[in-house]
Amino acid sequence: MDVPRKICTRCIMDTSASDITFDAEGRCSYCTSFLNTCGHVLAPDETERSRALAALVDQVKRRGRGKSYDCVVGVSGGVDSSWVLVKAVELGLRPLAVHMDNGWNSELAQNNIANLVRGLGLDLFTHVIDWTEYRSLMQAFFDADVIDVELLYDNAMLAVNYRQAARAGLRHILAGTNRATEGLDMPPGWTWNKFDRRNIMSLARRNNVRVKTFPAIGTFEAAWHALVHRTKWVWFLDYLPYRKVDALAVLQRDYGYKPYPYKHYESIFTRFYQGYILPWKFGVDKRRVHLSSLIIGGEMSRDEALTMVDGIPYPSQQDLDADIAYFLKKMNWTKAQLDDYISRPGQPHDRYGSEAVMFGRAMGIFNRLRVRPSPSRR
Ligand SMILES: [Zn+2]
Repeated sequence: MDVPRKICTRCIMDTSASDITFDAEGRCSYCTSFLNTCGHVLAPDETERSRALAALVDQVKRRGRGKSYDCVVGVSGGVDSSWVLVKAVELGLRPLAVHMDNGWNSELAQNNIANLVRGLGLDLFTHVIDWTEYRSLMQAFFDADVIDVELLYDNAMLAVNYRQAARAGLRHILAGTNRATEGLDMPPGWTWNKFDRRNIMSLARRNNVRVKTFPAIGTFEAAWHALVHRTKWVWFLDYLPYRKVDALAVLQRDYGYKPYPYKHYESIFTRFYQGYILPWKFGVDKRRVHLSSLIIGGEMSRDEALTMVDGIPYPSQQDLDADIAYFLKKMNWTKAQLDDYISRPGQPHDRYGSEAVMFGRAMGIFNRLRVRPSPSRR
């Protein structure tokens, strides 16, 4: 973490992103490409956008007529997905809230979800993952030294949302993924393909883990949902004027919502992963991507963001120590095991079995057909 890095003059991306390039003014390829491809999301034609939103709402209502719900909203307890739920209800939709509990939810997140769902008078479906199996799968990912340990959560979350939609006969999953505040791409090698079921199974086999209940989804099932069932994964916040700070203020005022110090800190593992494992084992600080998106979206100044990334990705050393202790206990590790894991070099996911190439080809077809299974931007 101590090697001096070149930082973009417009956002705070730096040379920890291996493929980053800079123009003559020192502006990086990440924010430039975001502005080139998604400028319309940051400065949209509001008339056009309200028309698109009205058409979407109308379609969701029509497809859901006569059913108990008309759409699925996946909730994590974070601001983005909480806001989707609030706006969906405000627009007259009847969402089924779907949450996946992998055993790492912070109490804060549980309370936020419970308060929100109660306040809005909605049904909540929670899929609780079998913890013993999940822990063995996490152990397999740690033993393989691959970077995207969150592939497990994200893949299962996609599976649970798609399967709930299919079960309830619903065509729309409204998600908190959005371009306005998450617009910058994740650098290559920082995450892995979230539909790579084969990668999960291959790592499980490597550690002799029998997968019995883990709801993994791969390319074929994703294709089935998109092409046969015609489920749409909607980036709902792109249809609305969305400013995270304003959304947070309303959530706090009306739904007793309690904020987290950084993005995705609703899960104890996610914050430990992003705040400790990624920076120390892989030299990756995802706050650079998250905060750069907010800078380009005009929600935060570059100076503010620089101040935020200056220092450990934790509110305090004490909080970090508490999470280390929690992690060791939950995973049944010693501190020496954690130190050994952190010191080992990372390994690429496709060193093991993978269907990422096949998924890439399928995505090409999906794009031509204008159907899009969810990408994930965590
Ligand atoms: Zn930049």
